[in-house]
Amino acid sequence: MNHFEVLNGELACEVVPLRAIAEAVGTPVYVYSTATLERHYTVLRDALVAEGLGNPLIAYAVKANSNVAVLRTLGNLGAGADTVSVGEIKRALAAGISPDRIVFSGVGKTEAELAFALDVGVGEINVESEPEMRLASTVAQAKGTRATIAIRVNPDVSAGGHAKISTGKSDNKFGVSFSEAERLYAQASNNAGLKPVGVTCHIGSQITELAPLEQAFTKMRGLVERLRAEGLSVERLDLGGGLGVPYFNMPTPATPADYAAMIARTFKGMDVQFAFEPGRVIAANAGVLLATVQHIHERPEGRKFAVLDAAMNDLIRPAMYDAWHDIRPIKARTGASVTYDVVGPICETGDTFTRDREMQALQAGDLVAFMSAGAYGAVMSSEYNSRLLVPEVLVKGDQFAVVRPRPTYQDMLDRERSAPWL
Ligand SMILES: *Cc1c(COP(=O)(O)O)cnc(C)c1O
Repeated sequence: MNHFEVLNGELACEVVPLRAIAEAVGTPVYVYSTATLERHYTVLRDALVAEGLGNPLIAYAVKANSNVAVLRTLGNLGAGADTVSVGEIKRALAAGISPDRIVFSGVGKTEAELAFALDVGVGEINVESEPEMRLASTVAQAKGTRATIAIRVNPDVSAGGHAKISTGKSDNKFGVSFSEAERLYAQASNNAGLKPVGVTCHIGSQITELAPLEQAFTKMRGLVERLRAEGLSVERLDLGGGLGVPYFNMPTPATPADYAAMIARTFKGMDVQFAFEPGRVIAANAGVLLATVQHIHERPEGRKFAVLDAAMNDLIRPAMYDAWHDIRPIKARTGASVTYDVVGPICETGDTFTRDREMQALQAGDLVAFMSAGAYGAVMSSEYNSRLLVPEVLVKGDQFAVVRPRPTYQDMLDRERSAPWL
């Protein structure tokens, strides 16, 4: 459920009309709903707690939407943060999330990144390979400390809505095999620079069925049992993220309640501290990208293009993952529907949000909202074509705040320098 509904004849975010935000901030602009972020976090946490999974660490995956105001909203509810770079760790800290609730993931952590993570005291470093584990140990020993690590396993199951977001097959770059995990865990337990506390997996994103997750988790249970049988201590089990959300025209995902029940079933009788790294399921439906129709361009042979002021640099999911977003006009108009290609102004054919979409007739000046754009939206935006970085607005009830202003063209130019010979 989300808090984007029609109010007084026009689409609103909570009780703020999207038109009011467009008038105050301009378009394109991302708009996030506090109530929806809070609801998604709470529904997931309550489902896990109701299934008797203790007091799990829910480390929100910062990469889905890393705006510090969004992180603070979730941090205030008790969320931790799953991070993949120094920048993301800094964002989580800036949002007031305590370091012991920060997980540091990612396949290629550098020496400097590991040193930073150890200095700030992140709660768990997920190591993804033997060389990375060795580097973590070296960096920790140089500082006279131990790195608290979990070993990321690649469970070799396929899952995820698209090949580019599937991470759990053995030919993906993520994690180590089960046999390697056993060997590395034992090695880490005897290493002066390492403190292994658990194991982790994350098999992909936009997973709508529970079967691949259940298959992976059953294998993870076996791993924990084998490690413990060898006398090794395994306190934590981090099950990653990946739960899908309903997108327009896409399969309906499993609910958080079904997900939690499956986990309780899979790990019945196992005493372990659970951690999760949900991103999309928290943020996707908590945000929209608001855009204005510039004009309708009609070809003589009949194809109609609705040209927006938003482009692939603002929302790249359709170009990168063939993603489908529901595109809702802010104001409903009666009359026959029309088939449009909805496109941006960038000089690439890939700058097409959708083709042959049947929707209500559009006119220049209409506002439209790309629904489910709160995750992997603004975080992937760029200045391609020297378009200004898209701003972000956070709504709470009847208030809204610009939480990332639109830069000026001067800001954009000021970031660059000439070369001495020019
Ligand atoms: C991307 C990622 C997540 C979040 O995935 P979602 O599909 O957004 O839930 C969690 N953990 C890791 C390691 C990731 O790379």
